[in-house]
Amino acid sequence: MPALLRCRFCHLFAALVWAAGAQGLLAQTPDTPFTERPLAETSDRNFTPLGQAALGIRSADWKHAETANFIYHYFQSFVAAPVSVEAEFYYRVIARELEKDTTQWERKSHIFVFETAEDWAAFQKRGALDPWTGGIHSRGELFLRRDPQFRFKGNTLGHEVAHLVVDRFFGSNVPLWLNEGYAEYVSIRGYAAFQRARNYRMRPTSVAVANAQFIPLAELTAALSYPQDVLRVEAFYSESERLTRFLSAANKSGFGVFFEALAKGARFETALSRGFAGRFPSLEALEREFRKYATNESGAPPQD
Ligand SMILES: [Zn+2]
Repeated sequence: MPALLRCRFCHLFAALVWAAGAQGLLAQTPDTPFTERPLAETSDRNFTPLGQAALGIRSADWKHAETANFIYHYFQSFVAAPVSVEAEFYYRVIARELEKDTTQWERKSHIFVFETAEDWAAFQKRGALDPWTGGIHSRGELFLRRDPQFRFKGNTLGHEVAHLVVDRFFGSNVPLWLNEGYAEYVSIRGYAAFQRARNYRMRPTSVAVANAQFIPLAELTAALSYPQDVLRVEAFYSESERLTRFLSAANKSGFGVFFEALAKGARFETALSRGFAGRFPSLEALEREFRKYATNESGAPPQD
């Protein structure tokens, strides 16, 4: 598991056109007030070297705010406030779904919101990051770029926030496929819920895997890095999302047990038997059933 989760593919999902409508999101969650305050008055000022590097760029211009679970660093509040609403929303969705009680936690996670291409490039340079990086999650801090000119934001932010929340709940040993698959799964569902509440018709956004691109589960679940080939990257994300959806639908609480076991270093098959107790007696049995669902555009996952 890399220390940095570099979602080179994540930002491509922004091209999926959904009317984000930040005002609507704000109206639905009045319990997360976003209040600007001086850095000295925020509740946590411990930053990683990457966080310090970010704050070193146009250092006099950063603004700061805090909500229940996150601290934000940004340049303009109208850009960062909608980020805070989504961050708290996904925090609650994931905590509820994975049955995590974090009411006793005190330390908050940091989210850095960049806007201009110049600032983002300066950050990439200081952090020695690959130029294609669109959003980075590292050691409990999230760095992302939000272009205020770009109206349609899709599930990109939810995807990145999901990484941050998963890291906070489970630490940094979650396997790559599950980290990406879960971030896609929960952000697609979360985004659809927002949109439905606003009476938008949502197209199903879980994407089937082309049969020829199907990655055997033994390979997918053992991957430590993203595939080199772009087509395979696409399949990697889609299949990971489908596998997450499939297992979560098969048994939601079992999926939580399975997730926890994988995060603590269990092998895939060990975690499978702990979470699903004989429902999938082997990796081959799971693959036979899963492959049909993964490659079928309109297929429904199994029900509990
Ligand atoms: Zn990602």
